Amino acid sequence: DHLVNQIAAGEVVERPASALKELLENSIDAGSKSLQIELHAGGSKLIKVIDDGCGIAKDDLGLALHRHATSKISSMDDLAKVGTLGFRGEGLASIASVSRLSLTSRFTENGQLSAHAWRVEADHGHLLEPEPAALACGTTIEVHELYTQVPARKKFLKSDSTEYAHCLSMVERLALANPQIQITLLHNGKAQQRWLAGDLAKRAAAIVGDEFVQSGIVVDEGIGSLRLHGITGSPTLGKTSREAQFFFVNGRFVRDKVVMHALKEAYRDVLHHNLHASFCLFLELDPEGVDVNVHPTKIEVRFRESQAIYRFLLTSLSKALAQTKA
Ligand code: ADP
Ligand code: MG
Repeated sequence: DHLVNQIAAGEVVERPASALKELLENSIDAGSKSLQIELHAGGSKLIKVIDDGCGIAKDDLGLALHRHATSKISSMDDLAKVGTLGFRGEGLASIASVSRLSLTSRFTENGQLSAHAWRVEADHGHLLEPEPAALACGTTIEVHELYTQVPARKKFLKSDSTEYAHCLSMVERLALANPQIQITLLHNGKAQQRWLAGDLAKRAAAIVGDEFVQSGIVVDEGIGSLRLHGITGSPTLGKTSREAQFFFVNGRFVRDKVVMHALKEAYRDVLHHNLHASFCLFLELDPEGVDVNVHPTKIEVRFRESQAIYRFLLTSLSKALAQTKA
């Protein structure tokens, strides 16, 4: 079982940024309003996430570190319409199998904080008994030495600054999709980012740039159960500004051929050359219309009706971009 976990870990947790993604998605699923992220050595020495979400009950603490233990779905039927970011129940188990991990949590139920927090520790998959701990609320998780005792994997890690860059872009994606959550990011003890809670425009200004938001076009189009909203870059914005391309499907960052085709086509009409625009766009659709189960890292999606999605995106974007021609 231990070996199975370590092998699965290589799939789910390729590097510190992917471990960080799993932790942050759990914090978001837990309804957190504030997140503090502390990284050391690009996350390879330490990844720490402090959240103020609902916490985990004592009896569920050990379980949370077990493979296929998820509180989020209870049947294959649920899997088709999953509304949370996590659902496989393998994120924490995978991380725990290739690191030293400590999970401290204070459970809140019906607005009632439990008497105190509990902590479990795991060393490369070996769990200790929960012990009482002090914590105001929420969950604090520390992942020490990810992969340092798994030589075959460790050698795939790049320099600290490269791993940090991957972590930062992961945090940016989640921050754009969740502007209502305050986020603080520290690296090697130094404050890197601090984004106050706000709306998308405010968050996008902080991450992509003021110019992008100020000259950008607000998109909000819907047909039936499909909705596209967000900000797309003005075709006249110079190429000097940061090219930032963020597309989310039901709150998840994705990179998808159908989406990119539609964007290229829409911009081609106004730009007459290839796509150099920045965008921060959100597509919402019936969860049954999209398969997010393609790969554990969940960056790919499969649309059930990709032609219809393509036409909807192209129509919506062309309409939004047409405003800039007038
Ligand atoms: P999944 O997210 O797919 O359910 P994980 O292995 O990532 O699986 O997490 C296992 C379980 O641990 C979750 O279903 C959730 O109940 C609990 N959990 C993990 N992190 C947190 C957190 N920060 N706050 C509250 N519950 C959490
Ligand atoms: Mg998860």
